[in-house]
Amino acid sequence: MEFTTKHIAITGAGSGIGRAIAQRLDRAGAKLSLFGRRPEALEETAGLLRGSAHWASLDISDRSAVEFAFTDAVGVHGPLHALVANAGVGGSNSPADEGGDRFDELVDTNLRGTYYSMRAAQAHLVGREAGARHIIAISSILARIGVPGYSGYCASKTALLGLVRSLSVELAPEGILVNAICPGWVDTDMAWEGLDGMAGALAISREAAHSIAMGDVPIGRMGKPAEVAGLVAYLLSDDAAGTTGSAIDINGGAFMA
Ligand code: NAP
Repeated sequence: MEFTTKHIAITGAGSGIGRAIAQRLDRAGAKLSLFGRRPEALEETAGLLRGSAHWASLDISDRSAVEFAFTDAVGVHGPLHALVANAGVGGSNSPADEGGDRFDELVDTNLRGTYYSMRAAQAHLVGREAGARHIIAISSILARIGVPGYSGYCASKTALLGLVRSLSVELAPEGILVNAICPGWVDTDMAWEGLDGMAGALAISREAAHSIAMGDVPIGRMGKPAEVAGLVAYLLSDDAAGTTGSAIDINGGAFMA
């Protein structure tokens, strides 16, 4: 897959899945704009790439910052071809939590922030030359199943599927394809924080928590960030030109629609 002339924006590109997506698309020659909150993490990702990536520090829940950053990126790399809305926060939430219920934080980032990113990108995707433009949201297997203690994460990731379905219809006349990816366990810091939470709740080691979690995964292992990146590359390719409004599972068989 060659994306040599394509400008692709990735949110949450400073770590984990977002970094792997940046590396995958960089290898295919894309011009990349990388967004996230921690400048040092973005700079580190940019340093791993062959191409010269543009990066900017922003909080996706700040709508005007997102709009400014996308306009700025288009000034650097030219018209946008695609957005991979990958940024998100994980973890549990409860009204009983010390420090308060994180529900708003989860929804503000995972849902509102993703929506702001999509709308900011849309402004630079429309009215360009012929050929598909793309918006891809990284949702989660927790959009498919309920998990106790994860109401904010489950709700925000499930809402992304409604967002994708609606925008896929709304933006089809503009030639913009809108899809979601729903990963299961992927070997990143976020996943290990989840396993540490499970280990703490059950008073077991993180290795034991990992073993319990993998018991629900038929292939018996976590996914790799590069495997999610490969699916992103496929969705951005001409081979997926007929795919829109979809939510594609990549979870080692842990959930089957
Ligand atoms: P990660 O390494 O924690 O990546 C999350 C990224 O999002 C970070 O680079 C973070 O960077 C960025 N981010 C968080 N809040 C942000 C905000 N308000 N504004 C801008 N950037 C923000 O974890 P990951 O596993 O790669 O997660 C990537 C995506 O995959 C997330 O949407 C996650 O929900 C989803 N996912 C992960 C798994 C899994 O098992 N790992 C499974 C299903 C879905 P900063 O902290 O620098 O902002």
